[in-house]
Amino acid sequence: METKRYTEDELLFLSDIQHYTFCPRQWYLMCMEQMWEDNHLTVEGALLHSKVHEPEQSERRGDVITLRSVPLASYQLGLYGFSDAVELVPASDPIGPAFVHPQYPGRWDATPVEYKRGKPKRHNADRLQLCAQAICLEETYGIHIPRGYLFYGEIKHREAVLLDEALRLELFDITEQMHRAYESKRPIAAVYSSKCRSCSLVNQCLPRANQFGSASEYLLRNNLFNP
Ligand code: SF4
Repeated sequence: METKRYTEDELLFLSDIQHYTFCPRQWYLMCMEQMWEDNHLTVEGALLHSKVHEPEQSERRGDVITLRSVPLASYQLGLYGFSDAVELVPASDPIGPAFVHPQYPGRWDATPVEYKRGKPKRHNADRLQLCAQAICLEETYGIHIPRGYLFYGEIKHREAVLLDEALRLELFDITEQMHRAYESKRPIAAVYSSKCRSCSLVNQCLPRANQFGSASEYLLRNNLFNP
């Protein structure tokens, strides 16, 4: 197991991984400037999560136990948060490390499940968030988790995600960047792209204006300059 790299005071919120991966400026505006604006995507996402974030809704169906809203932390990644759900099935290895739970005696294989409102995306934000949840569980319970699941509400289907070395390295790289950005407190500039069209902060961010070095350059380029 890797050694601790962060203290409790340095932990950042795990779900911020998806904001930082989607757009570092979005993360900066939300986390450092405390900006938040709902659009239909964030409202639908909040509704979906309100249904799955109830610890008392944990349930057992035969040999499969679903824990809800499981608290998580990793001192290697410097992250804390919750998993929407962790699915437990009887441990496949009879003597190896296994997940244990006070309410459900026995030895279990654990798999994190994250719920998303939309459908699978081209970028890795959802997969990285899921991988971070798995690493939190691995670190806490001394287990290895080879895969997780992303459930997408729009297609009502869950996708298996292989938590391979490449995804883990990408996650460590992103979390290091996030911690450095948090420490530096320096504003992160906007980079206008197709992502801005689905971003709930587009009206606060003003990405077309902020991609230029100065306001006068923006006005000139957009024929708004009025000497
Ligand atoms: S509007 Fe675009 S640049 Fe600004 S935070 Fe959103 S995605 Fe990032």
